[in-house]
Amino acid sequence: MTVKINENYLLLESNYIFIEINQRVEKYQKENPDAEIIRMGIGDVTRPLPKAVTNKFTEAVNEMGKADTFHGYGPEQGYDFLIETIIKGDYEPRGIKLSNEEVFVSDGAKCDTGNIQEIFDLENIVAVTDPVYPVYVDSNVMAGRTGPMEEGGRYQNLVYIPCTEDNDFIPELPKTPVDLIYLCYPNNPTGTALTKEQLSVWVNYAKKNNSIILFDAAYEAYIREDNIPHSIYEIEGAREVAIEFRSFSKNAGFTGTRCAYTVVPKEVMGYDNEGHPHSLNSLWNRRQTTKFNGVSYPVQVAASAVYSPEGQKEINESVDYYMKNASIIRESLRALGLSIYGGINSPYIWIKTPGDMDSWQFFDLLLNEAHVVGTPGIGFGPSGEGYLRLTAFNTLKNTKEAMDRISNLSI
Ligand SMILES: *Cc1c(COP(=O)(O)O)cnc(C)c1O
Repeated sequence: MTVKINENYLLLESNYIFIEINQRVEKYQKENPDAEIIRMGIGDVTRPLPKAVTNKFTEAVNEMGKADTFHGYGPEQGYDFLIETIIKGDYEPRGIKLSNEEVFVSDGAKCDTGNIQEIFDLENIVAVTDPVYPVYVDSNVMAGRTGPMEEGGRYQNLVYIPCTEDNDFIPELPKTPVDLIYLCYPNNPTGTALTKEQLSVWVNYAKKNNSIILFDAAYEAYIREDNIPHSIYEIEGAREVAIEFRSFSKNAGFTGTRCAYTVVPKEVMGYDNEGHPHSLNSLWNRRQTTKFNGVSYPVQVAASAVYSPEGQKEINESVDYYMKNASIIRESLRALGLSIYGGINSPYIWIKTPGDMDSWQFFDLLLNEAHVVGTPGIGFGPSGEGYLRLTAFNTLKNTKEAMDRISNLSI
């Protein structure tokens, strides 16, 4: 007997973008050992956890070491103390009512956005914006929902919704019917956002076509403009058609600590073969209780400290810090005459490559001439060709230095 693999894995694009970037950077560094390379590619934060968070985190760790305050398995969905804090802190101020059973605490929005497709039939047609956060695509490839990749870099059965300069990065409704729609706003990688009116178009589409929107709001904390919705549930009717993903990674520095949550309103329904409705909330609950055993108690205590007055003050300072970097990047590149997008309601700046350069050529130019590492837009999908992403997550000092170097290039 031989063990057969899940062959869908063979359909995945082999050269994962960040591996290729690292190889090019390592090669350059080896040949130029004195070059001080500044990384503005990978979307990881650099500011430490807030004091308010580490204090509570430490207390909770100490509780775990004493018999009378020790915590074993907790509820798979998360502790009520955190869920209630989330609802009060993130939703009630925006006029959104949620019950505790509608919020599922997890160890990451990456896991949740990757796992959510499990509760849907393989026959569903999936739509993604292009360029896109790769997790949505790859998790559907692994499940066998996409078929092979075709020439042009698109998977056969996926519907791609191009977001480029041509449409101001506002996704247009698909011309053929789709069932599941992944939307990430503020967007990674383009850094652009949707207004309430623009997001309403999608909620109305989903209601009319019985589609479901999987809304990734990981960058909610970076929203600066008033007319940008922080939650999809600010849009009327969204409770019936949308699942929302949130994370403590980008607002509170939890990328290495791991805590996030997913909202599945009880009204969102999927249908069986006989056409009977089933609550996606109960399917997701079943999935989580079977395959997940909850986030550790100290981490959930730490996450709830994000909502304390001290915690809020500290996370706002961090987000402001990154957004100052973003505005420095925007201003410097503008002054060079480059076309740039994002960086106003998000920590990402999406740059149109100058002249006829493609994404990798511009990447190599910045690496070789300025020792600055960005992310080639092509790595996020075919419509990312001709763009490059910079992040605002580096230090202020490095960001300024990188912009000085780029400003001295002749582009
Ligand atoms: C960083 C990021 C997340 C957060 O992922 P975690 O697993 O919670 O760290 C989710 N979605 C997008 C688009 C992101 O860029």
